[in-house]
Amino acid sequence: MRDRGQIRVRGIVQGVGFRPFVYSRAHALGIRGSVRNTGSQVEIEAWGGRFEEFLGEVSRGPPLARIDSVEVLPLTGSAPPGFSILTSSAGILSGMIPPDVATCGECVGDLFDEKSRYRGYFATSCVNCGPRYSIIESLPYDRERTSMSSFPMCPECGREYTDPACRRHHAQTIACPACGPRLTLMDADGRAMGIPDPVREAAALLDAGSILAIRGIGGFHIACTEERAGELKARLGRTEQPFAVMVREEALDRMACVEAADWKVLGSEVHPIAVLVKRDPTAHGTISNLHTIGCMLPYAPLHHLLFSCLRAPLLIMTSANMPGYPMITEIDTAVAKLRGQVDSYLTHDRRILNRCDDSVVRDGLIIRLSRGMAPKRTRVDLGPSCILGVGPELNSNITIYKDGFAITSPHVGHVRNPPTLAYLEETAERIRGWLGARYDVIAHDLHPSFLSTGYARALAEETGADLVPVQHHRAHVAAAPTGPCIAITIDGVGYGDDGRVWGGEVFAGQVPHLDRVGHLEEVPMPGGDLATRFPERMLYGILPVERVLGILRGRGWTDIQCGVLARQVERGVNVAWTSSTGRVLDAVSALLGICRERTYDGEPAMRLEAAAYGGTPSEWPLEFLQKGGRGAEVLSTRSLVRRALDGFLEATGSGGTGEARAVASIAASVQHNLARGIAHIAVHAARDQGLGTVALSGGVAYNAAIRETIRREVEGAGLTLLMNREYPLGDGCISYGQCVWAGMVKREGG
Ligand SMILES: [Zn+2]
Ligand SMILES: [Zn+2]
Repeated sequence: MRDRGQIRVRGIVQGVGFRPFVYSRAHALGIRGSVRNTGSQVEIEAWGGRFEEFLGEVSRGPPLARIDSVEVLPLTGSAPPGFSILTSSAGILSGMIPPDVATCGECVGDLFDEKSRYRGYFATSCVNCGPRYSIIESLPYDRERTSMSSFPMCPECGREYTDPACRRHHAQTIACPACGPRLTLMDADGRAMGIPDPVREAAALLDAGSILAIRGIGGFHIACTEERAGELKARLGRTEQPFAVMVREEALDRMACVEAADWKVLGSEVHPIAVLVKRDPTAHGTISNLHTIGCMLPYAPLHHLLFSCLRAPLLIMTSANMPGYPMITEIDTAVAKLRGQVDSYLTHDRRILNRCDDSVVRDGLIIRLSRGMAPKRTRVDLGPSCILGVGPELNSNITIYKDGFAITSPHVGHVRNPPTLAYLEETAERIRGWLGARYDVIAHDLHPSFLSTGYARALAEETGADLVPVQHHRAHVAAAPTGPCIAITIDGVGYGDDGRVWGGEVFAGQVPHLDRVGHLEEVPMPGGDLATRFPERMLYGILPVERVLGILRGRGWTDIQCGVLARQVERGVNVAWTSSTGRVLDAVSALLGICRERTYDGEPAMRLEAAAYGGTPSEWPLEFLQKGGRGAEVLSTRSLVRRALDGFLEATGSGGTGEARAVASIAASVQHNLARGIAHIAVHAARDQGLGTVALSGGVAYNAAIRETIRREVEGAGLTLLMNREYPLGDGCISYGQCVWAGMVKREGG
C-alpha cells in the first residue's frame, strides 16, 4: 500500500471544479500536499495513510470532469503541514478548454433563497456551473484570463473563494450583486432606462407584448411571447422559419411529447434546444409550422429570474443575427443592427469573448454542436501531424488535431460571406493559439470555390502546410468511427469527384478508401442554385415535359418562364446534375404544393416531413438503373416522383380533409420508398463485399421517418446500422471528418 505519490490527471479537468474537489477529498481523508493546474493536466502531490482511497476518488473526479488518464509517480521529500491549492502554471494546453455549463440546481436554489446573498442575482455560478468558453481570453482557465477579470472580488466573495467548505471554493466565475456584472434595461435607442429591477421590468414588457433583445451567455437572443410571434416574423422578414422557444419545465409536457431521454438531455449540463414532436401537430403554428418544435429549458440564472416574474408559459428565444451572419454579442452592434426589430434591450456588462449559439439536438442526435458541447474534444489517434479541418460551406465549424486529440469549435454558421468567413478564421486562430498548434496539414472541401477552400489555400501558402482536399460525403463517413463498412450519406449537396453535385451516396470500404458503389439517379438542376430556392424548377427534368408544363402553367408560370426553363435543360446551360436526396425531397414538396419557395435551409424537405407525419406510406415498386455489373447501383428517383405525381393528380379534386390525407400519404410514401431504395443499394453492396455494418450520415438522416425505414431495412437484412452520436449527422461533423481523413491519408504516406 502506497502512502504517497505524485498524481497526474489528464482530461477535461479545468473549469469543472477539479481542484476544489481534490481539496475536499484530501481534507476528508487526512491527505497532506497540494494540487495545481499545469495547463494540460492537474498535478497532485499527496501524502497520507489513506492515499489509495484518495487516489480512487481522484480518479473518478467531480461530475463535469472527463478523465483520460491518471498516472502515479514516486514522490520524495516530506509532506507539507496541510493541503493547499497552488496557482496555475502554463504548460501544454491540449484540450483544456471547458465548455459553458448550464446553471446547476443549487445555484437556482440560491436565486430564490431568502437567506442567500445570491438571491435574485442574474450572474451567480459555482464550480459546477456557469460560463466558461464564452468568457475565456487565454488559458489556463483562471479568473484573471477571463472577462471576469474586470470584476475584482468583494471581501465576501473572496472569503467563499478561499473557503474549502464552500461550493464556490475556487469558482473562477464567483460574483455577487456587490462586485459582479450588472444588468441594464435599455430603450430602443440603447439608452439606459434607469430601472432599479431590470428583470421584473423586462418580464412585464414581454408580457405586455414588447420584443426584447436579451444578452445571454454566448450572445444576444430576441425574445417575445407566443402572441407576438407573427409580429416578430414580420419584423425579421422570416415568415416561415420556426423559432426555438424557452419553456417553463411544468409547461413543456403539455405542448410536446417529451420522452425520458429528452428530459435527460434538456436538463443536462448542456441544456440544448431539443426538437420535439408537438402534442398537437397544428398547435403553436405561429412558432413552428412543422409537426415539431424546438424547446429548451431556462439555462442561465437570468432566464430563471425572468420566468419567475413572467406570466407567459414560454418565450420565443431566437438567436439575434442577420440571416447567414454570426450571432450578435456586443450591445453597440445589437443597437445598430436590430433597430426596428426590437423594442428594448436587457443587457449586462460581462464581455462575451467567444460567441456561442445554443446547441440543438433531436432524438439523441446532435444537429448543432455549440454551447455546452463545444469546444468538443475527442481522443483519437491520427498520427504525428497537426491538422486543421476548415469545414465545408454550410453549418461550418473548425477542428484542430494535435497530439492525440481533436478539438472542434462551436458552430460558426454558413461561410458564404466575408463576416462569417472572418468569424471562422478568428475561431481557428484563437483555438490554435490556445493549443500552441502549428499546422502540418490543412484539410478542406473538394469544392474549388468555397470561401473555406480559399482560406485553406491561403493559410497553407503562409504556413507551408500540406493541403488535403476531402470529398464532402467521405468526410461525413470519416467523422464516425468505423472499420470497413458500407456508408450511406444522404444530404443536400456536396461537390463530387466528377464535379457533379452529390448528395445521395453509398460507399464501400474504409477511410481513406471509400468507393462510390451506389447513388440516386442524377437529375438536372435547371438554373443551379435557383433550383434550390424554387424547387418547382427541379420538376422539369425529373417529370415528362408535357406533364410538368401542365402543372407549372396551372400555378401561374408564364409561357416565357416555361420557355426559359425548357431551353436551359435542353441546351444544358446553367444546369448542374445532381444525385442529391434533399433536392428530390424538395421537388416532391413543390409538386405536392407544400413548399414552392425555400426561405431557409432545408425548408421544403422539412415541410414535406411535417406533411408526411400522420400519413400512411405505401410500398411502391423500386426501379434500379445499372443494376448489377461493375458500375454503381442507381436508384431511379424519376420513377418515384412520377408515381407521386399520379397519386397527386388523383387526389386533387377530392377536396377538404380527404385531399389533405391523400397528400400526407403520398409524402409519406415518397420518403418511405426513397429510404427503402437507398437501403437496398447498401444491403446489396454489403452482401457483395461481405461487410456487416452500414453507417448512416447526412442531414436527411434527421428525418425520423426516413431514418427509421433505413434502419428497418438494414437491420432486417441482418446488418448493423451505425450513426454518429458524438458529432452532428449534418455538416457540423465535416471539419472533424476532414481531419480524420487527412490524418489517415498522411499515415499512408499520402
Ligand atoms: Zn452552480
Ligand atoms: Zn462579491
